[in-house]
This record gives sequence, structure tokens and C-alpha cells, in this order.
Amino acid sequence: MTDPKAAPLRFTDLGLAPELLRAIADQGYTEPTPIQAQAIPVVLAGLDLMGGAQTGTGKTAAFTLPLLQRILPFASPSPSPARHPVRVLMLAPTRELAIQVHESVKTYSKHVPIRSCCAYGGVDIKAQIAEIRCGVEVLVATPGRLLDLVEQKCLHFNSVQALVLDEADRMLDMGFIPDVTRIINMLPKQRQSLLFSATFSEEIKKLADKMLKAPELIEVAQRNTVSETITHRVHPVASEAKRALLVKLLRSSDFNQVLVFTRTKLETNRLARELQRAGIAADSIHGDKSQLERLKALEAFKDGSVLVLVATDVAARGLDIDELPHVINFEIPRTPEDYIHRIGRTGRAGKAGTAISLVSASEVPYLVDIEKLIKIKVEQVVIAGFEPEYDYTYPPGDKHRHRRSAAAPAPAPVSPEAARSERSAERSPPRKSVSKHSAGRRPSHIAADGFDFSKPYESAEPHPVAAAVDGDPTKTSGRTEHPHKRRRAVAALLGGLGRE
Ligand code: AMP
Repeated sequence: MTDPKAAPLRFTDLGLAPELLRAIADQGYTEPTPIQAQAIPVVLAGLDLMGGAQTGTGKTAAFTLPLLQRILPFASPSPSPARHPVRVLMLAPTRELAIQVHESVKTYSKHVPIRSCCAYGGVDIKAQIAEIRCGVEVLVATPGRLLDLVEQKCLHFNSVQALVLDEADRMLDMGFIPDVTRIINMLPKQRQSLLFSATFSEEIKKLADKMLKAPELIEVAQRNTVSETITHRVHPVASEAKRALLVKLLRSSDFNQVLVFTRTKLETNRLARELQRAGIAADSIHGDKSQLERLKALEAFKDGSVLVLVATDVAARGLDIDELPHVINFEIPRTPEDYIHRIGRTGRAGKAGTAISLVSASEVPYLVDIEKLIKIKVEQVVIAGFEPEYDYTYPPGDKHRHRRSAAAPAPAPVSPEAARSERSAERSPPRKSVSKHSAGRRPSHIAADGFDFSKPYESAEPHPVAAAVDGDPTKTSGRTEHPHKRRRAVAALLGGLGRE
């Protein structure tokens, strides 16, 4: 017997049906990605699967293709709804991800008479009910809307052969696990189940125990791929000069379609407005926007009428934008894993991409965390006229320092009292997402390459109260400071260290 985990080099080696291979070829794909090479034989064999893979790895095709093949014997051109019961249920945490997964299902099923439908909240349920009543074999849904549909009594699960739980860590993050558990309990016990998650916390493992039977484990660390195809660059810059620098970068000819990340919804809106005022076609996307606004912004970004999309981590997670060349971190994330999620939108499937981060003095410790996780020392380029704060020190505490330009005014002398109060602000309690520094030691689930599979995904969205302060990069709040932010040496505050 062939080892299902041995990676074949071409799609044609995977034993997929000719109709599916045609759909793959239509996409221009010849080689399966690592998760596809490993997962497709396992799923084709009818086994349960626990997949450690993030968006950007090709995981959607890794579960969609073999599941389509498994229901292919039941495919029917008959118009009768009775011939098209729900056979595969795919659960996704957000509307955007559900839509994307459904797009993949449509793409790969285009040469076979298999019907699919996507159901998510925030839009009228009636059209979804009507579509489902006509019969669909593959239903992609968000958990809340699926339960609404169950209440409307338009769904029957007795023919469900397979369940996919995509981005389980995000489901957990968004409080969907009770809904997911209710759904699982409605499904036939005899079924195939696949769970995909970027991280495996204890809670995800508990859910996997409930949902999966003797699953095959497949882990693909996305950042290895990312690190090979993406050029990372940091521009050290004073926080109050970030907006002007961003405008300058966006106006340069190198930049066309760019996804810009901020940490808060407030900043996302403000920045998009400011870019528009600067004559740059920009829009924003975040959780407070209506479904229609989000879809419109995304469509405009995809068709090129909007060149810059400003997004929060949560809104952007799972976005699939083909050949996105540039990601700019207007603020770098406080959780290093979020950096990986952010840059997962560029450099996909081996394509080249650029990840640029605008880093101010107070963000250096987060940069250090990110560099440890991705195992890359990121090149730092100071742009003339946009120098960082006088106390920008990299690595923190190192003699090598980026200095303000000679023209910049020297910082005002700081009294020992002021220095003391600044230090005490830096000692404020850490956020719930404790960094590995503050934990003091690495937990045992850290992979050899440094990836922490035990850590639940934590959104970089701060507490709403903190957001009101953090939304303005010109203000700093002790509450959101890095728990181990390197304290500034008093001598530096007095302008004595490393200055000419
Ligand atoms: P996903 O991780 O499923 O969100 O997919 C990431 C991106 O990779 C999507 O834009 C897919 O269209 C693309 N993709 C999926 N499989 C392949 C493949 N075998 N070769 C090249 N690109 C792929």
C-alpha cells in the first residue's frame, strides 16, 4: 500500500477524477501544495483528519477536491430536490471565509452535476431557504445561520457524509463552539469529519476528540513557505509620521494593490479617510461594517477600483485575494502569530510578495517577538525625512541605534520623576494574550521551527476601551504596552546614550 503521506508531485498522481483534474487545470495549478499532497489521499480514503494549516496553504482545495470526489457517485443531473440532499457540510467562522470556501467548491465542481450553496448571516434568509429547498449537495455555512436554517426546518442532515470545520481556532475565538457542538450533535454518527485549525489549544483538542474518530494528523507550517517567498522590510518611523510615510510609500510606483493592516476599527476608518483625502483610492474593512459594505469594498479591491484596502486582523483573516503583492503593517501586531496571518495574504502558493512594517520605538519589542517566530532578521530601512523616535533602539538595549536626523530637535530633558512615571506605565498588566516572554518559558507544544501549536489564536483587536486610545497612534497608552517592553535607560531619556 502506498503511504498516503508520501507527497506526490503532480495532481494526476493523486487519483482524482478526470472532471476534477480538468477543473484544477482550468485554474492553472499543476502541483499540489504540501497540505494538498498530504490531505487528499487521506480524505479520499475516507479517514478523519486534523489539519494544522492556515489560509494561504491551499487547504480549501485540500478538503474540497477529495470530498467532491467522494460524493461524485451520487452526482445527478436530475432537477428533483430529492436527488440532491446535503451530503457535505462545511462550516466556516465568517461570511467572508464561507464565501471563499464556496467559491472553491464552485470552481472545482464546475464539470460535475453537484450543487452547492453558501449560507451566512447578515442577509435575508429567504433566498438561502429557497436555494436549499431546491437541493444542494455541498452546503457551506457559518454556524449561526446554519442553526437559523435548521429552525426554519428547511434542512435535513440524514444524508450528510462529511463535515468540515474550517478555522476551528477562529470559531473558538468568536464563541461559536457551542453552536458547532449543537450542529455536530444533529449529524449522523457515521460520517467523515475534518477539522482545520492554525493552532491547537486544549479546547480545540477537546473539540477534535468529540468530533473526530482516529484522525490522521497533518501539520503544515505556513511561515516556512512565507519566509521563502516574501520579502520582509521594516521602516523605523516615529508614530506621528507613519501616515505621511504611508502616503509616500503608496504614491511610489512600486505600490498598486496593497492591503494595509491596523490594530483597531477606529484607526482603520481614519486611515482610509486620510488616504482618500490624499487622493489614494482606499477603503476600509472591519467587523462593524455591514455585510454589503464589506463585500463591496472587497469586490472593489479585487477589481482594482480600490487600490488600498485598510483592514483589521479579524476582518482580513481568511481573505483570499489572488496575487496580492504587498501587505503593509501600519501598526505591527501585538501577537506575533497575527503577523503570519497578515502576510498570509501575500506570497501565496509560491508567488513573490512584500511585507512592509512601519515600526515606531514602542513597537520594537513586538518586532523582536515576530522575528523570533518567523526566524528572520528583517531588514530595516530608514526613509530620509521619516526617521524614528530618538529612543528607537534595535535590538532593544543594543548599542546599535537608529538615530534621529541631525535636523531633528533634541528631546526635552526628562526629570527623574517623569522617567519613573513612564517606567511605571510600562509595567501595566499585560493583555490576556501573554507573550512567550512573559510566560518565562516555552510550553511543550512548540514545534522545532518555533511555531506554537498549543496557543489559541488571539485576535490583535484590543479591548474596546483601549481601542479608543490606541486608535490614535499619536497617543500612547500604558495599558497596551508590551508586557516586557524594554525600559528606557534614564540616560537615553536625558539624551545621553547613543546620541552624537
Ligand atoms: P487557501 O489556503 O485554501 O486559502 O488557498 C490559498 C490560495 O492558493 C488560493 O488563492 C488558491 O486559489 C491557491 N491555490 C490552491 N491550490 C493551489 C495549487 N495547487 N497551486 C497554486 N495555487 C493554489
